[in-house]
Amino acid sequence: MHNLIIIGSGPAGLTAAIYASRAQLNPVVIEGMEPGGQLTTTTVIENWPGTPDGVDGPKLMADMKQQAQKFGTVFKNGIVSQTDLRQKPFSITVGDETLETTCLIIASGASARLLGLEEEKKLMGRGVSVCATCDGFFFRGKNVLVVGGGDSALEEAVYLSNLASSVTVVHRRNELRASKIMQEKAFSISNIDFLWDSVIDKIDDPEKATVTGAAIKNVKSGEVTQHTCDGIFVAIGHIPNTGFVAGQIDMDDQGFILTENGTKTNIAGVFAAGDVTDPTYKQAITAAGMGCMATLDAERYLQGI
Ligand code: NAP
Repeated sequence: MHNLIIIGSGPAGLTAAIYASRAQLNPVVIEGMEPGGQLTTTTVIENWPGTPDGVDGPKLMADMKQQAQKFGTVFKNGIVSQTDLRQKPFSITVGDETLETTCLIIASGASARLLGLEEEKKLMGRGVSVCATCDGFFFRGKNVLVVGGGDSALEEAVYLSNLASSVTVVHRRNELRASKIMQEKAFSISNIDFLWDSVIDKIDDPEKATVTGAAIKNVKSGEVTQHTCDGIFVAIGHIPNTGFVAGQIDMDDQGFILTENGTKTNIAGVFAAGDVTDPTYKQAITAAGMGCMATLDAERYLQGI
């Protein structure tokens, strides 16, 4: 029987853990499918306050974990498959083990959204990727497409431009969603091109078990053209990881957990923090802030305030 379980080990979960262990709430962190969260798949982060030279994503997360461990947080490697939040204590299933807890912080983050093409699944890891910093190395001197028009897509494109010989950003509109600074950076790089008003219709070639090209449709004219490429990086946003609480907790229509009065969910004793509850800001720093808030809210709940 635990006092406080934190599901997730990104900036929200680890900040919650640092605060909770310093407050002697004896937190247990379930690390999830991507220990350290999404920042472990980035390179340098330039907007983490207090780091004028930037900070390496995996290092930042390793340091946060170390800080939480220093104050006594217990880490459990595993993925939560199921929860029962209908009765107290809450029960959490991790592998073949069921844990019970008085209080729960859900900080399970979000996962990459995919295009939904049949070939995308078949060629994932065989030319299709959702992480340039993980897989970019394999595309040195090659031609790649990046799908999306947000900061992630441009960050991927800029990173890949140092490795690949050409990077083409395929965006479904003729205007980017990314911040102005990222747009300026991407526009200034000579081997980054843009295909506007365009979507990927089909990826070749599952039969060869590798990416050889894509059929790209212009959404305005309907014209489909064939593009040769060696890799496709999908960077079209994220879906909250809330499957394990589906039907048990209030969520919006996209699956983000709804909170009110800080990090409180509709279930007393269950709090949510970070990308799992945030369709708007989605920043590491906002997630960390929410992690802090969740622990302060949990502490008050445990004290019966
Ligand atoms: P995002 O801002 O939601 O952008 C997703 C992009 O993918 C949009 O351009 C969207 O097109 C496109 N898209 C969505 N579904 C699509 C589909 N089915 N087919 C084709 N295109 C599709 O997501 P993000 O880029 O991952 O960024 C998420 C948040 O993290 C943002 O707040 C961003 O500022 C932040 N972020 C910050 C940094 C940084 O500060 N260094 C780096 C990365 C991300 P539309 O534009 O037409 O909707």
